[in-house]
Amino acid sequence: MIPFCGNPLDRVSEKRTDTQWVEAKRRDASSLILPMWKLQPFLIGPGKGPLETGFLHPGLCESLAGPDAAWVLLGVEKERALFALDISAARDPANEGPLAGLGTFRDLRAAAMTAGLPDKDIAILGQAKAMIDWHERHGFCARCGHPTTIADAGYKRACPNCNAEHFPRTDPVVIMLATHGDACLVGRGKQFPPGFFSALAGFVEPGETIEEAVAREIHEEAGVRVKNVTYFTTQPWPFPSSLMIGCYAEAEGRDIIIDPNEIAEAFWLDRERARRLLAGDTTDSIRMPPPVAIAHHLIRHWAET
Ligand SMILES: [Zn+2]
Repeated sequence: MIPFCGNPLDRVSEKRTDTQWVEAKRRDASSLILPMWKLQPFLIGPGKGPLETGFLHPGLCESLAGPDAAWVLLGVEKERALFALDISAARDPANEGPLAGLGTFRDLRAAAMTAGLPDKDIAILGQAKAMIDWHERHGFCARCGHPTTIADAGYKRACPNCNAEHFPRTDPVVIMLATHGDACLVGRGKQFPPGFFSALAGFVEPGETIEEAVAREIHEEAGVRVKNVTYFTTQPWPFPSSLMIGCYAEAEGRDIIIDPNEIAEAFWLDRERARRLLAGDTTDSIRMPPPVAIAHHLIRHWAET
């Protein structure tokens, strides 16, 4: 399973406007609440060893939240409702107050890579992170600047001044592997560590299809023309709110002209070397993306078929 995929929750969107039902679920003893502190999910357990996702019963963590704290109904699983609650108002909740000593707040990307959590939990944590992050960045109306309020169980922000409604955003990003014969095009972003190469990627722009965005980005970043764009799979990527759309494309030639404003290096990686790198070869001077990233799976699927 690609991390952040496979969310098992029924999102019960038809229930979001039923405030009585939602409020009853927020207090229901069988419900679960995930506290998020500074966009980091709560994980139960010691600093070392196995961790569990910090789903808590109502009444334990709510006192840590500020009066206007963001909260979201994530969905329902087997009649049980799951919520996320922003407790960023708390000073140091891992060490003070009702959660002291019970666990830690972890960066989600690191947790997805190393905490050994079930796939379904990682997907739910991704949903919670993206939603709480959206609330944090959209406290004011984009139309008139007035403070907005939470509605629809966290899936809308409403402006009491101009009546505008604001909804959580998802930004489509194409991430693609151009191939030519037995090689694929990989690049190193300016911000990447030395030796770290990945598939090229970029945001889809308004008025553009996925295929057009793939062709444009590869040409902009590496000067390579492509055709026959095909779809691989998608991955929600909550940093902060992307949907990664994995694609392949056939390159028309191997000449590379990089845009130094976008990437530092690019080259054609042959299939055998890609296989060795993905198998964990540490003697090579370059590294491939880790399994948390869709790019890893995009390269692996190509290299192994
Ligand atoms: Zn407004």
